Amino acid sequence: MIDFSFSEEQEMLKQASREFAESKITPKVPEMEETGKVSDDIVKALGEAEMMALTIPEEYGGLGLGYTARLIALEEIARVSVATAMMLQVFALGIEPIILFGTEEQKEKYLPGLATGDRLATVAVTEPGGGSDPGSCRTSYYRDGDDYVISGRKCFITNSHIADTLTVLAKDGESDDPRALATFIVEGGMAGFRPTHEEHKVGMRGCNTGELVFEECRVPKENLLGQDGKGMRVAMSAIGMVGRGGMVGCALGLHTACLEASLKFASERILYGKPISVLQTIQNKLAEMKIELDAGRLLGYRAASMQDQGMRADNEFAVAKHFTTEAAQKAAKMAVDIHGGYGCMDEFAVTRYYRDAAVLGPSAGTSDIMKVIVARWILKPYRK
Ligand SMILES: Cc1cc2nc3c(=O)[nH]c(=O)nc-3n(C[C@H](O)[C@H](O)[C@H](O)COP(=O)(O)OP(=O)(O)OC[C@H]3O[C@@H](n4cnc5c(N)ncnc54)[C@H](O)[C@@H]3O)c2cc1C
Repeated sequence: MIDFSFSEEQEMLKQASREFAESKITPKVPEMEETGKVSDDIVKALGEAEMMALTIPEEYGGLGLGYTARLIALEEIARVSVATAMMLQVFALGIEPIILFGTEEQKEKYLPGLATGDRLATVAVTEPGGGSDPGSCRTSYYRDGDDYVISGRKCFITNSHIADTLTVLAKDGESDDPRALATFIVEGGMAGFRPTHEEHKVGMRGCNTGELVFEECRVPKENLLGQDGKGMRVAMSAIGMVGRGGMVGCALGLHTACLEASLKFASERILYGKPISVLQTIQNKLAEMKIELDAGRLLGYRAASMQDQGMRADNEFAVAKHFTTEAAQKAAKMAVDIHGGYGCMDEFAVTRYYRDAAVLGPSAGTSDIMKVIVARWILKPYRK
């Protein structure tokens, strides 16, 4: 038997996350839209509500609730603010390499602070040379006594200017092997490391994205995360499941918001003496939004449930990430269309949803890359 329902505990988490999002995040959305800046109040509230602790094991101060729980919470938060969900999803993405590959000392040093929100995390892989090809990484490191020294530049990094615990991918500058990569925990304030340019995004305003510069940044050998030379595995293990899973949560929440706004508007807007919800073209759009939301949820929760059972689910997450982010973009377009002229007016949240939807695509790998992964997966048995 396959059980498609949430447990009582999961239902309670869903309800609590919705109440948290509506009471603590909704009031801050106009300010984030106007300034584009991260709300300190929201970061504090996320910490107090233990939202950063969801995936961290209990022995390190976390809640140990796992990835289905995380998806539930993210969906509810994205329903009111995709920007906040994106910020939160990347906190977990930055935490995951330490959970998976950290030494006991690293876990004890970093995870308790990350669980409370006293520390904020991110992962820095993408470079100006192209995010789809992380193997072409030019940020490099060399060994100097007991230290590693990192130089290079990362771009499009979520939480770039607020994170103080960063997993950074770099290439071994002393090796000719392009696969000789390593990941390091870089801390805010380390000499030679600084966030520089902050991006001005079309959507997800209130979620910080920017550039990081490393100039002879000296990192003690204790901050090597995983094995020297095996950095790609560290970065991709986190991005493949937690990064893509997080984007699924962002997409599902946004999709839900688009459908809810459209149902409300279609029921209230009167044309020809009746609500436009009686028009078949409007009904078709609403039905299509609902069908794709349900399908996306099944794909997303399938992958998260596999992850909770300790199974590898990066291919399933690639399927879910592709489907849900594309579907949310379609849903945002339909929501704007249903609103007619009001769909161009800032007073209506659908304009924000449309801009936020545009940002869903590239994060944690583009839709093209998701297809590359899925094709590689299904062709594997046929490879000679
Ligand atoms: C809001 C936001 C937040 C982000 N946060 C982070 C973060 O926290 N950390 C981090 O490291 N990165 C982050 N990124 C970077 C993100 O992972 C990259 O943008 C993404 O991987 C794409 O890389 P690119 O932008 O360099 O595009 P490119 O790799 O240059 O791709 C350009 C185009 O080529 C296509 N393409 C590339 N390769 C193939 C292929 N093999 N087959 C078919 N088509 C292909 C792509 O689909 C795309 O259409 C973020 C990006 C955004 C927009």
